[in-house]
Amino acid sequence: MSQKPPPKQFIKNPINGTKFTLLISSAKGGVGKSTVAVNLAFALQNLGLKIGVLDADVYGPSLPKLIDLNEKPKSEDGKALVPVEKYNAQCMSMGFLVDEQTPMIWRGPMVISALKTMTQKVLWKNLDILIIDMPPGTGDTQLTFAQEVKVEGAIIVSTPQDLALLDVKRGIQMFDKTGVKIIGLIDNMSFFKGDDGKEYKIFGEGGVEKTAKEFNKDFLGKIPLNQDLRNSADKGDPLTRSNPEHEISKIFLEIAKKVKINLS
Ligand code: ADP
Repeated sequence: MSQKPPPKQFIKNPINGTKFTLLISSAKGGVGKSTVAVNLAFALQNLGLKIGVLDADVYGPSLPKLIDLNEKPKSEDGKALVPVEKYNAQCMSMGFLVDEQTPMIWRGPMVISALKTMTQKVLWKNLDILIIDMPPGTGDTQLTFAQEVKVEGAIIVSTPQDLALLDVKRGIQMFDKTGVKIIGLIDNMSFFKGDDGKEYKIFGEGGVEKTAKEFNKDFLGKIPLNQDLRNSADKGDPLTRSNPEHEISKIFLEIAKKVKINLS
């Protein structure tokens, strides 16, 4: 009797050159996913891990700006790309390959083909962990990614707003259905601490933690709205790297410790 091949979604290709691969995802744009991805990556570096960052947000790549890098990756054989090094991290982004001003008016299949190149044709070297900044949402691109790339886990970033939380539930379901382990949820822009010492809950309160509980997932932590975090992102030097002693960097470090334990 001939054996049936396993369902397609379970044929997942690992990314070579890294021990662990971690997706940072958000079901909605503008919640700070890229900022969290990059700062978490450098918090993991502060724990002694050798890190790589892959910006898979092909429509709106932000890594070049977040680490102030705009160098074309080299290729020795015309096929595989050598990641670009910055701050002792190996980096790759669609933004290194296309002009910053060029609008990405690609259709789904082109995006998927670009993602295949980014996941299969990049020569990562001896990484402990590769952090992948995913495109926002739960559409075809994200689904293909979750189905075809072998990863050790995913983190979902959200603001506490009801509107964002609805999408988070979709994100959780997408990873659950595709067999991707959810390491946990992060609440970004949780509150703003005024000069008066008061915490202002601009986007609501506690929703991400509640959603984590509802779906039996870990809650990894809350990151406040903070001007230094925004400034460092705009300057292209992530806060966790430029100022590891900052109170916000310490929050990222605590989250990084949880991630490290969870992965090992
Ligand atoms: P996404 O990747 O979800 O689209 P970004 O990481 O690009 O979001 O963040 C959107 C904007 O919000 C950026 O200007 C970024 O600097 C800012 N930002 C993100 N998180 C915070 C935060 N916790 N405090 C202050 N600004 C933040």
